[in-house]
Amino acid sequence: MNSSISNTYGDDDGEASKSTIIGPLNFNQDSSTDPPTSLVNERTVPCMFCSNIYDFHSTDNGSDQYLAHLYLIHRLVVADVKEIACLPSYCYYWKEKFTHDPVEKYCSSMLLNQLPDGTSSPNEKYFLLSDIEPLDYEVRQRLRREKLDLVLTRHQFERTDRRFNRGCLYCRDYRAETRPEYISHLYTKHFLLLGKPEHLVFVDELIEIVQDKLNRLICLFCEKLFKDRPTLKEHMRKKGHKRINPDNHYYDRFFLVNYRLKQKPEYVPIAQRKEESRVFASDSESDSDWSDWNGEEQTTTCLFCMHAEANIDSLKQHMVAKHKFNFDQTVTDLSFYQRVKIVNFIRRQMHIRKCIACGDQCQDYESLLKHLEDLDHFRLDKEASAWDQPEYFFPTYEDDQFLCHLEEVDNERDELSQEEGSVVISESVNASINLDAESLSLENFKL
Ligand SMILES: [Zn+2]
Ligand SMILES: [Zn+2]
Ligand SMILES: [Zn+2]
Ligand SMILES: [Zn+2]
Ligand SMILES: [Zn+2]
Repeated sequence: MNSSISNTYGDDDGEASKSTIIGPLNFNQDSSTDPPTSLVNERTVPCMFCSNIYDFHSTDNGSDQYLAHLYLIHRLVVADVKEIACLPSYCYYWKEKFTHDPVEKYCSSMLLNQLPDGTSSPNEKYFLLSDIEPLDYEVRQRLRREKLDLVLTRHQFERTDRRFNRGCLYCRDYRAETRPEYISHLYTKHFLLLGKPEHLVFVDELIEIVQDKLNRLICLFCEKLFKDRPTLKEHMRKKGHKRINPDNHYYDRFFLVNYRLKQKPEYVPIAQRKEESRVFASDSESDSDWSDWNGEEQTTTCLFCMHAEANIDSLKQHMVAKHKFNFDQTVTDLSFYQRVKIVNFIRRQMHIRKCIACGDQCQDYESLLKHLEDLDHFRLDKEASAWDQPEYFFPTYEDDQFLCHLEEVDNERDELSQEEGSVVISESVNASINLDAESLSLENFKL
């Protein structure tokens, strides 16, 4: 990108760069033509609001610390954060915006009766940054595309670049000219399997990490610590642990497959949810205006299908009969806010066509339903970390009647649920969005 800019400054620059190619090897020139490995500096990502700095490449989860800080200190939650192609770039983008504009301009807000640490406290305000905001939708789409471009360019470069020239992790005299040779050597000579060279990207960093793990006497596969090098080598050989741990998502970034444009075919930005939720919830009364409705008559829609009932108990029975999902049983012993999170989580997953149990991405509603039925996945993951996230305080759909019935859980109606008698007050989520601005920006942003 830089080179094309400099070329526009006239022939002089063109001549200069030409002469460096035929002239003596110029190291500066060489390194500047290498395609970059990231869109922005991911080592020092600044907080969107304060001067804190985070290293997103650190092995102790710099990005998790960043997100926790946003929530605990600034009361801000980023929706669908795992779907963001390049979180550091996203953070830079929003930091820039928030230096000029107040949070309220771009975020939905909500009052909860608790502090970020869970201590109860009335009317505490929280913010959600999501693609309901047109600028957010645009930046997410743009990052997805830019990241893929970058990764493909980098991958192409790494497959053919002959200046790699790196010594083997194990043997003294071997040096590889290219990255594919190096990876193949590790496998054929030392049985160390990092992946097929054609599937890998950011190979230099991957090798650095592998080397660092081995230097720290940590097994690549089971990640246990050993007392010395020979014991570690013996362990990895005997146990067949000479490959990287597939469950460690830190390695995801090194596999090309993880950058596929997960263009959900049915992807709908949240801005359209309001519309959809009406359709979704009004089934039989599709033409009626909500303003005519009497609070009493409002129906609640099933968490998994279009079925709606006026009576919450009938709906819960429907969910047991039709989907083998017992809501009351699922949420026994959970606090009011945890129930809120579970409902919003299930709604969200169903909306983006992801399994509520295993998180698998499905193509459309029908295949998701088939997945849930075939695998018996109408249940929550045992790991509460999937749904117990602050972003699920925020409703997925406006006017979600299910959220009004969370204090009436059968098995404990008589027990004291008084102290949990807190109410989620949703400030009109869409209020701040200027519809003109929305259509304008979406128009300007055709992919
Ligand atoms: Zn901060
Ligand atoms: Zn070797
Ligand atoms: Zn091991
Ligand atoms: Zn249903
Ligand atoms: Zn599943």
